[in-house]
Amino acid sequence: STFNPRSAIYEKNASVNAFVHIHDPPPSLEGQALETTTPIAKPLQWTTVAVKDNICTSDMPTTCSSAMLENFTSPFDATVVKLLKNAGADIVGKTNCDEFGMGSMNTHSIHGPVVNPFQTSPSVKSTSWRNREKRVAGGSSGGSAAAVAADMCDITLATDTGGSIRLPASYCGVVGLKPSYGLISRYGVVSYADSLDCVGLMARSIFQARRAFDILDVPDPEDPTSVSKHMRESASRLLRDSSPLNQSSTSEQPKLRVGVPQEYFAQELSPVVQKSVRKALKALQNLGVQIVPVSLPSTSYALSAYYVLASAEASSNLARYDGIEYGLRATPPPGSDLTKTSNVYSHTRTQGFGDEVRKRILLGTYSLTADAFDNYFLQAQKVRQLVRNDFDSVFRWPNLRVSTCKPTVSMEGVDVLIHPSAIRTAPRLPSMGQNSVESLDTYLQDVLTVPASLAGLPALNVPVPVETEDDPDEAEEWPIGISIVGQWGCDRLVMDVGIIAE
Ligand code: GLN
Repeated sequence: STFNPRSAIYEKNASVNAFVHIHDPPPSLEGQALETTTPIAKPLQWTTVAVKDNICTSDMPTTCSSAMLENFTSPFDATVVKLLKNAGADIVGKTNCDEFGMGSMNTHSIHGPVVNPFQTSPSVKSTSWRNREKRVAGGSSGGSAAAVAADMCDITLATDTGGSIRLPASYCGVVGLKPSYGLISRYGVVSYADSLDCVGLMARSIFQARRAFDILDVPDPEDPTSVSKHMRESASRLLRDSSPLNQSSTSEQPKLRVGVPQEYFAQELSPVVQKSVRKALKALQNLGVQIVPVSLPSTSYALSAYYVLASAEASSNLARYDGIEYGLRATPPPGSDLTKTSNVYSHTRTQGFGDEVRKRILLGTYSLTADAFDNYFLQAQKVRQLVRNDFDSVFRWPNLRVSTCKPTVSMEGVDVLIHPSAIRTAPRLPSMGQNSVESLDTYLQDVLTVPASLAGLPALNVPVPVETEDDPDEAEEWPIGISIVGQWGCDRLVMDVGIIAE
């Protein structure tokens, strides 16, 4: 009998809820794959890939975990799906997420919450792992993180607007890459906040994530924000010529310089995260890496700026769901004036969007009104620039996507930054109708991931060993991750450093 990757998915999904749709191959093809002799093996042959449910697929629904799109199937595949299919990948299904990507715990979903599969991981030392409390997988790409963590597939496609790949990857103990803004096509990806949205990858190893990244790192004429071949080549040339990891062994080897931003070790950081990250940095130092304390002073303003900008862009993007062209159409109650399309709009939007999404639309619409624009939207844009400047002042290389001057290399600059991905381990899964963390705290979970999003930089979550030694309270050992952040276009350097840290 042939191995069927779907059976593991069906079996585990009952408890994890990572998949919202499982794609069974047509019966005529079943079992055939193993016998096919392709003259040239495709790069992702035998690789199982699942796709976040806000990325369009023509053979499966794309719901964005929203009642608004519950019955929606796209007429076309997103470019990223097409590229992976062409590379031979076996697309096994769609993964759960927060509605339209809005959330940090994957609890805002019409498909129900994702349960962190680490709970039942046999690798956990504790003998009582069966009785452990349920924890969230993180969001918004919780299904994608849980699917790889539970070994339901090899690689998942996800999106990251303010941390939606890195946070769940950290909570579930997997690798998660948010690439540089503009490298991977967003054609066919449902927009949340266009100036921040990135498609990225999750996997159990950097090696796996990189295989898919290499396929997806190509210009796409269908996406106006996709950067040119020329700009991609400039970035790799700069890296090839001046990265310490790329120097031939004959020349005098400059040390890899890793910056540690002091502002990311704030009060909110839990002791076990603090200890584990310091230990990981020490291990790198022992390998000959130079650890350099750096300062990114605008960090504390980034979270507020992010939520103003992301909500503003979302309020504009979500205006398209009006019940007219596609998605849900709610019938106004008897007696309403049906000649007024506004009645259809408001009923559809009230029924179709969940609470969190409606909250964002209200906030975003407000910050774009004439009265509030200067105080909110414009201020947030200024903070965004300060955050970008902070990063540019510490890296060895300039930001090639935004800077117009000839690139200069400063050898005092750092190659990458390393900081904790999250301030804590996965929060408890809230029981029905209740929040496990105070509602404002939910937003605080993103505090360490949003700066790289505002600046459009590549950032990679890598799990690190958990340091529980002298603290029996923390003996549960839920996963902890570090983020490796690079200058724009330094995605491969970020992954190279990740392999050293892995
Ligand atoms: N938690 C953040 C938000 O709700 C990030 C979401 C994301 O990256 N898609 O906006």
